[in-house]
Amino acid sequence: MEGIQLATQVTPWLASGRTLFLIIHLLGITGFAYIVAMRLVPLLRAQRDLRFDRPLARVGKVLKFGLAQWKHPRYRVAGILHIFIFAGFICLVIRAFYVLIVGVSENFVMPGLSGEAGHVYNIITDYAATVVFLCMVIAIVRRLVFKPARYAVPEKFGKAHTADAVFLLALIAVLMLADSLFSAARAAGQAQQGQTVEVLAAWSLPWMLKSLLASSSLSALKDVYFGAYLLHEVTFYFLLCYRPFGIQFHVETSLFNLYFAKLERGTVKPVRYGVSDEHLDQVKSFGVKTFEDFTWKHMLDFYSCADCGRCSDNCPANAVGRPLSPRFITTKARDYAFQHYPMFGKSTNHQPLIGNLYSEDEIWSCTTCGACEEECPLLVEYIDKIVDLRRGMIDDGNVPQSLQKPLKALESRGNPYGKMEKKRADWANAKEFRQTCPVKTLDGKNHADTLYFVDSVTSYDDRMQSIGRATAKILDHVGENFGILGTAEKDSGHEVRRFGEETLFMALRDHNVDAIKASGAKRIVTADPHAFNALKHDYKDMPPVEHISQVIASEVKSGKITFNAVENGKDVYTYHDPCYLGRHNQIYDDPRNVLDAIPGLKRVEMSRSRDRSFCCGGGGLAMFYEPKEEERMGVKRVRMAAEAGANVIVTACPFCMVNIEDAIKVAGMEGKMTAIDLAELTEKQMMRESRVLETKGTVEIQQESVAGR
Ligand code: SF4
Ligand code: SF4
Repeated sequence: MEGIQLATQVTPWLASGRTLFLIIHLLGITGFAYIVAMRLVPLLRAQRDLRFDRPLARVGKVLKFGLAQWKHPRYRVAGILHIFIFAGFICLVIRAFYVLIVGVSENFVMPGLSGEAGHVYNIITDYAATVVFLCMVIAIVRRLVFKPARYAVPEKFGKAHTADAVFLLALIAVLMLADSLFSAARAAGQAQQGQTVEVLAAWSLPWMLKSLLASSSLSALKDVYFGAYLLHEVTFYFLLCYRPFGIQFHVETSLFNLYFAKLERGTVKPVRYGVSDEHLDQVKSFGVKTFEDFTWKHMLDFYSCADCGRCSDNCPANAVGRPLSPRFITTKARDYAFQHYPMFGKSTNHQPLIGNLYSEDEIWSCTTCGACEEECPLLVEYIDKIVDLRRGMIDDGNVPQSLQKPLKALESRGNPYGKMEKKRADWANAKEFRQTCPVKTLDGKNHADTLYFVDSVTSYDDRMQSIGRATAKILDHVGENFGILGTAEKDSGHEVRRFGEETLFMALRDHNVDAIKASGAKRIVTADPHAFNALKHDYKDMPPVEHISQVIASEVKSGKITFNAVENGKDVYTYHDPCYLGRHNQIYDDPRNVLDAIPGLKRVEMSRSRDRSFCCGGGGLAMFYEPKEEERMGVKRVRMAAEAGANVIVTACPFCMVNIEDAIKVAGMEGKMTAIDLAELTEKQMMRESRVLETKGTVEIQQESVAGR
């Protein structure tokens, strides 16, 4: 710094640069503090949200999804760009503070960064500023020239934020340029006066700018030095204060959003945090009706969205042209918050959201598949918000026509079809089946270790009853002492809850909990991922629950289940991950391991599989809902299977089976494509005459017959 006047000393038109910079600091910090305080106002008026538990798990989320940028590489180009930008920012944080302070305290040195350590750090920051600058240029070109489709904003969802995004990217580029110019002018001045020149990283932006400035006069260098500093200060504080007005607010909020993110998958938030089920009757109104009915965390989600469009890009409802695109659930709410909670003047609120911000169809279009949440790099939540908005509509008596009948039926008969309770176990009473596989009803007279929870679709849908029979045969084959609840079972209520009918859900749940407890079973098995999810996450104090795919996989491993080779070696199978088995419960490998254990079975993966699986369209009572859409989700899914080269779709969910079989017909692919449930396929392929002899902890298997069953 010697030999060239410090920025604080070269103010030709003010008595002291220090005073100018001090004023800029004070204005910038005060402005930012005021803006953030105003942004916090709606959060303070929002509903409670209990997110202060398990701090270690929460810090883990911040480290994984924040610092390690876990989800970003799922979109290669944008993800890698973001990782570079984020890493650059991390490197530049200390430098930013240093540069800010040096304007008012010219001899300031960051503690720990004097001498060699300081030189190394300066080299790192030279490269970091260069990388961030280049990333900004690439990002601007991507936005303006290549225009990735997911950034587009269809007219029905509002205005595009491209100009705002480009402006902010350009501001960051200017900040990097100003910082680099500041270093370059100082180094060039030092060189001109024959002093020790601060080393600049070779081929970095400051290094290149220094080369450009090498022949400038000393007084010009002083002006550049001062000008670059001033530009840096003004841009820094402008950015800081401007970001909370747009999509870049996520820079400030995202780490908090990650810390307070939901920890349990598959769950739905309570109607009101802190209000027990017994006291729900004292809650004046259920769900979200106005903006202030959202919880503070959900509002933080709105602020934290980076508008990257990944959620909508993966949303099946959006893909088939339903009036729902999750990104806009967030951006519309954020715009609402900005508009109704202005920086100056009173907040104007309490406007009903449905009919103003969101349409009814938009909110009913969601299948609660979870693809949006799985994809979001900032862990923005959607299902809870959508369920809460539905609760609000239900509370106002606003139920879609097509769902009124199944809901009434669930209330009166415990199943959405309105069929007689006494027919619930008919699938197990078919004479031929009963002769080969008698199924006990755990009615107090009969007892069993394992309860097979069947749920409504498998119990009443003629086609899906085959899944029930296959499941029973598998349990029987592996020697499980099992039974069903029979007429004592009611719908698990899983869909009812996600549809927003909390009171009905609670009635169904309480009935089933009593029946399950009375059965005395120590373990529950189900072949329905929706029932599985409900029993695991929506019910409390239940015995351990397993999905049949887990049971089969473990019995294949133990050797109790072995398979005959597939009859037709030409068939190509693909596995469709049901949302409530895969994304919501992370069971991806067990079903695949079972398929891979079948000799001769060829299996391919669809382009969208595992945690990127594409919903068949069956979740959240959607099976009974008639949405506005251009194409059925199931049809799209069947086409994906065909594109992967498969002609047999295996799934592990009766809801998926209903939708996929229907979609095969709609797509005109009958004869070319078939669908089968994993339990059905297992039952079809397993060797029947196995005798399982358990001796001293080991399992011996005699396979007497291989074929023909
Ligand atoms: S849960 Fe599924 S259907 Fe609903 S908004 Fe998210 S991605 Fe779309
Ligand atoms: S919610 Fe998440 S995935 Fe969707 S646009 Fe916002 S940041 Fe991107």
